[in-house]
Amino acid sequence: MSRVAIVTGGTRGIGEAISLALKELGYTVAANYAGNEEKAKAFTDKTGIASFKWDVGDHQACLDGCAAVTEALGPIDVVVNNAGITRDGVLARMSFDDWNEVMRINLGGCFNMAKATFGGMRERGWGRIVNIGSINGQAGQYGQVNYAAAKSGIHGFTKALAQEGAKYGVTVNAIAPGYIDTDMVAAVPAPVLEKIVAKIPVGRLGQAHEIARGVAFLCCEEGGFVTGSTLSINGGQHMY
Ligand code: NDP
Repeated sequence: MSRVAIVTGGTRGIGEAISLALKELGYTVAANYAGNEEKAKAFTDKTGIASFKWDVGDHQACLDGCAAVTEALGPIDVVVNNAGITRDGVLARMSFDDWNEVMRINLGGCFNMAKATFGGMRERGWGRIVNIGSINGQAGQYGQVNYAAAKSGIHGFTKALAQEGAKYGVTVNAIAPGYIDTDMVAAVPAPVLEKIVAKIPVGRLGQAHEIARGVAFLCCEEGGFVTGSTLSINGGQHMY
């Protein structure tokens, strides 16, 4: 029986590419999403990958969602914590809700999904967790104290959990993407985006499949000696 992988936010953008890359590796993939039914249905129709709706920021919903995936597909061996949101604004204009919601989903989601799956991986002696951080968690970004803090937290979370998983065959790594051509980046105003692209040494935005390739490497059988690391895939924008 093939191993089962969950990709949070796995029905569009970077997550969609990750779901496809893990399917190509031979895993049985479950793609989680928050509420965009139209995209999720189109994704499942196109790829044959099952999609499951729950909010990764909701602890109980993650426990229930992972139980439903286990029931449908089998024990979960791979988790890619990809779901993420932005609620940008300078500190003076950022509400407590904007702070909290980004922390709850982007960082809390990693904790919730790990709580639901890490114990089983340890018991079975094999697992892969990949957390999607960000260049803005490494370097900071104007107007993103919430997002930068959450993504920076992901890198610490990764290194700490990697230490707990290492002797049980469970690796925990992060990927820090630079600017990738998805809906999230399409929301950035054009003049701001032009300035961003001008600062990327390779001279273009990244593509979702370029992040997915990195995730596939970290999740494959041969990736077992890589743990606690962060792979930066950013076109040379931040050499960390
Ligand atoms: P998109 O906005 O294109 O897609 C986000 C995905 O996350 C969607 O599938 C969405 O579901 C899902 N999602 C959002 N909130 C929740 C939630 N509470 N519970 C479950 N799923 C949720 O994002 P990208 O593909 O651009 O980004 C993917 C990840 O990569 C994010 O963590 C982002 O921070 C990170 N990243 C992105 C960069 C970029 O340039 N694009 C750069 C660096 C990091 P639904 O479809 O239902 O809304």
